[in-house]
Amino acid sequence: MNINKCSCKENRPPTAGRSGCGCNINAPKIPMDGFKVPAAPVSRPLGKVNDNKEHQLASQGAGPAKGDDKKKSWSLSDFDLGRPLGKGKFGNVYLAREKESHYVVALKVLFKSQILDSEIEHQVRREVEIQCRLRHPNILRMYGYFHDEKRIYLILEYAKHGSMYKLLKERERFDEKTVAIYIRDLTKALVYCHAKKVIHRDIKPENLLIGHNWELKIADFGWSVHSPSSRRMTLCGTLDYLSPEMIEGKPHNYAVDIWSLGVLCYELLVGLPPFDAKDSHQTYRKIRYVIIKYPDFISEKAKDLMGKLLVINPEQRLPLINVLQHPWITENAPEGAQPPAFNPEQK
Ligand code: AMP
Repeated sequence: MNINKCSCKENRPPTAGRSGCGCNINAPKIPMDGFKVPAAPVSRPLGKVNDNKEHQLASQGAGPAKGDDKKKSWSLSDFDLGRPLGKGKFGNVYLAREKESHYVVALKVLFKSQILDSEIEHQVRREVEIQCRLRHPNILRMYGYFHDEKRIYLILEYAKHGSMYKLLKERERFDEKTVAIYIRDLTKALVYCHAKKVIHRDIKPENLLIGHNWELKIADFGWSVHSPSSRRMTLCGTLDYLSPEMIEGKPHNYAVDIWSLGVLCYELLVGLPPFDAKDSHQTYRKIRYVIIKYPDFISEKAKDLMGKLLVINPEQRLPLINVLQHPWITENAPEGAQPPAFNPEQK
């Protein structure tokens, strides 16, 4: 396998054979002033604060201008910080509110030392460059960034209902209508990314967030690339979502996202990924030969769609545009159908 491996997401149980991840970083010493989040998200962008900052945001994440006194950068003092929202490998995410506009955001705090030690500087740079310029209702917005001596701060759209992974673990699995809506929306977001020549390469529940109206949002473009790409990649996290060409270290293209769409569809419907096994060697074998077992409760149409996505030959995977026309999608997720609101009290 032509992949260097490290694990990073804090949630998914480690697969056998995973190397240590160093997830246990110290939380930054940031004050935790509590504040209320507005019931509905403010629709205007973070801008309107002052012309210079607005310019930064309007320029689609070009970031603070260097060496120009007229263009003031964002800094931590522009934000009130709230509760921690979660923890990633390289830092923590906090709820925050821009002081002047009261616009609520999520502030992702990354430690420069860890980024340098892990040699992922270029990856963070790419994540910022790519995510700042994407605008789609099912893609988490990145409004900008700033940094101080020790940390980098990413100003992100706040996704009220947190991670898809956590929601899935709470519910165990979702019904077909709900999954069809998520898959429809994710497909639309991927069509948009691919049109912009961006391959996400790391679609999985840990990298999906749930917004105010329970809509899916793709987050975490840390592994994304501008197409075409045949570069070797360092595998971060679970093997389960990797396509056969990726685990074999072959050149890959947009079709890796189509494969992971099929894996995600299965995991959301069943509660476990299709190639789950007792060790990574078995998972690898199952992916390579596409060995999938569908539980009885999965409908024929859902199986048909997954069977057309989980195809060894990348060229033969169902194009995303055809996913949107597949009968399982059109019947379960007609235009306008929205994801259900989940009540944490009810299963
Ligand atoms: P990450 O470092 O991006 O993997 O984020 C770690 C965790 O923080 C996620 O699993 C979410 O629970 C939470 N989180 C990250 N970004 C956001 C956001 N924009 N809105 C709400 N929660 C978030």
